[in-house]
Amino acid sequence: MLADVHMDWPIGQHEIGLFFAAQGTLVVAPMSRQRYRVVAQLADAPSTPTVADVQRVIDQRGPTSGARVNKVLWGSRFQVHHKLADRFHAGPFLLVGDAAHVHSPAGGQGMNLGLRDAEALATALAACLNGNKDALDAYAMERRAVAKQVLERTDRLTRIATLRSPALHWLRDTILSTVGHAPAVRKRIAMMLAGFS
Ligand SMILES: Cc1cc2nc3c(=O)[nH]c(=O)nc-3n(C[C@H](O)[C@H](O)[C@H](O)COP(=O)(O)OP(=O)(O)OC[C@H]3O[C@@H](n4cnc5c(N)ncnc54)[C@H](O)[C@@H]3O)c2cc1C
Repeated sequence: MLADVHMDWPIGQHEIGLFFAAQGTLVVAPMSRQRYRVVAQLADAPSTPTVADVQRVIDQRGPTSGARVNKVLWGSRFQVHHKLADRFHAGPFLLVGDAAHVHSPAGGQGMNLGLRDAEALATALAACLNGNKDALDAYAMERRAVAKQVLERTDRLTRIATLRSPALHWLRDTILSTVGHAPAVRKRIAMMLAGFS
């Protein structure tokens, strides 16, 4: 379930809230003043979530108090797909972005990956025009390898976020709260998710 809402939110505007609840994950991301994007994993997500739908999920999975949904500005639902094209280049056809790869939004990497594809393709097209006949195949191979890595990573992140066993929940939460305090680890994760490493 996906909804942009106006709400009172106790965590505030400066950080994304990621809740690994027993019922499933909940992500709350600040967008602008009072506006938040709410994403929750549900077995039967409504096609157009209402205030009551969003409030129920937040009450079940989010902070114990202080969260009050006032208005749904826009809502929808989506399914997670993991797909990678066999080739990014065939004859006159070149693939970039979601046409080449789609994956779970865990970590928010899809758009970044597509932008890096477009940048790499622009460089390859310029090289091709300057006589490098292999530039487009090199683009296709390099970017497919990067996309494959991102798909594997988002698949792992999705599995970690949706673990069912209480013992594994405890292990995950303990590891995350420990490494989450290490500035070097935080920086490495940020660079990786932004597509810079
Ligand atoms: C819930 C959710 C959250 C996400 N969050 C993040 C995030 O935080 N960070 C991030 O980096 N990424 C995120 N993504 C992924 C990101 O939205 C996509 O990776 C990105 O939008 C892909 O861009 P694109 O241009 O490749 O494809 P699209 O955005 O799908 O653009 C393709 C366009 O082509 C048009 N089109 C299709 N067929 C035709 C046709 N035959 N003729 C003409 N036009 C056509 C479509 O209408 C569309 O406008 C998220 C995705 C989801 C579902």
